[in-house]
Amino acid sequence: MQRTSIAWTQWTSNPIHFTVEEDPATKRARKGWLCTKVSKGCANCYSEAINFRYGNRLLYNQTSLDWGEWQFYESEPLEWSRLEEPSKIFVCDMTDLFHPDIPDRFRDKVFSGMEVAPWHTFQVLTKRPEEALSYYGARNERSLWNFPSNLWLGATVESPDYVNRLDVLRKIPARIKFVSFEPLLEDIGEVDLKGTDWIIVGAESGNNRRPFDIDWAYNLLDQAKLQNVKYFFKQTSSQHSGSLEGVPEDLIVREFPAEV
Ligand code: SF4
Repeated sequence: MQRTSIAWTQWTSNPIHFTVEEDPATKRARKGWLCTKVSKGCANCYSEAINFRYGNRLLYNQTSLDWGEWQFYESEPLEWSRLEEPSKIFVCDMTDLFHPDIPDRFRDKVFSGMEVAPWHTFQVLTKRPEEALSYYGARNERSLWNFPSNLWLGATVESPDYVNRLDVLRKIPARIKFVSFEPLLEDIGEVDLKGTDWIIVGAESGNNRRPFDIDWAYNLLDQAKLQNVKYFFKQTSSQHSGSLEGVPEDLIVREFPAEV
């Protein structure tokens, strides 16, 4: 678990890793993370860049799944319960907790860890809400269960092509649900935010960032106000993540859906 500069959270925690058993060059295990790209927003995945440099050096694609295995680090949930100060913890920012290849038993452990630390707020963001819904359904077939009440569950919608993720998210009975419009790649147009408590809006950052128009963010701010949804403007288009340089003051609205 580590402190983060991501403005809408305080900590990031990654209990799920992907380890290459034996690097042919060094004969040693290579620890890191993994995911596979699922939509336009993944093109410049920062987790993949970090993993390629400092982790197991695998690219986030289907072939890489054959090179190692998923591992669960029990130490992460333990750290959650050792941290006394109530905090916002973004879980699995280096992968997608609902990647179809991740075993359900790992997700069970993640949610159990949240349940035993009810003073924290856990944030999970996915581009695969349909997998989250299916996990929920399968778990309920085993016995009655719901997502922990201290979980904020979010889906990413980076362009109008993925607005259907919002429809799926609506079907999941998490207490607080949010949508991350980041990296916002196009104007979303009109969007129904029914069932959503919070939206995050942000441009892409980094050297390969794609164009961003501040009017796209104003459009979402207007709709959030009209539909009584909390709004958080994260960042404008810049090489540096988190930049608010040149952003008009009336757009820098930073609300949360609940007290932490
Ligand atoms: S879902 Fe997230 S972690 Fe996975 S490839 Fe896409 S951006 Fe990266």
